[in-house]
Amino acid sequence: MRLVMIGAPASGKGTQAHKLTRHFNLDHISTGEMLRAEEAKRSELGLVVESYLKRGQLVPDGLVVKLVGERLALNHLAQGFILDGFPRTLNQALALDQALTALGQAIDAALLIEVPDSAVLERITGRRADPETGRIYHLKYSPPPPEILSRLEQRDDDTAELMQARLNTYHERIAPVVAHYREGGLLVAVDGTSSPDAVFAQVLRLLNSRRSPG
Ligand code: AMP
Repeated sequence: MRLVMIGAPASGKGTQAHKLTRHFNLDHISTGEMLRAEEAKRSELGLVVESYLKRGQLVPDGLVVKLVGERLALNHLAQGFILDGFPRTLNQALALDQALTALGQAIDAALLIEVPDSAVLERITGRRADPETGRIYHLKYSPPPPEILSRLEQRDDDTAELMQARLNTYHERIAPVVAHYREGGLLVAVDGTSSPDAVFAQVLRLLNSRRSPG
């Protein structure tokens, strides 16, 4: 199965992508994680990436399309993949269609996780990551065990001001992407406001009903 995951920052798309990855044994391709890994290398490319992430802006299409294209061309995708955080612009969606066509593949569904901005803003300020395991916690909704609290980190771009900038960018750029997948009959919209397990149950139900109509 080949899936695209669309959702605002902190909509829970990363959590759902991890669950889907395990459930269907998919390759999880997160452009946010790939870009943060580049940034951490302090390479020339990493410094360019950092200048965008710091401001809560999207990195240029050409750069992220190249990274994803290289990853998709690697030959371990037989089980399928889930793209988390890509495409985020119509240009990226069209570039993805082209890259997949060249590989003789196509997207099966584009999952849209819908959460109102007010809920996103509340979620984001409590989000913390464990640098040792990569696990994401929320101080209120998914509290970490007390013994690891001191080592948890807040992502540099998870502040209220940057969040508003990221949300504005998200809404502006994602509308044509959503329209693109809706026109292609691929859009699967999910209410992302309930618990992660409830959202996941809904995702599975909707995906299964597409695979076996009726
Ligand atoms: P995420 O972890 O998906 O929230 O992404 C974190 C940041 O990485 C975003 O705010 C963007 O600056 C950048 N980013 C991630 N995916 C993309 C993409 N597909 N296109 C452009 N920038 C991206």
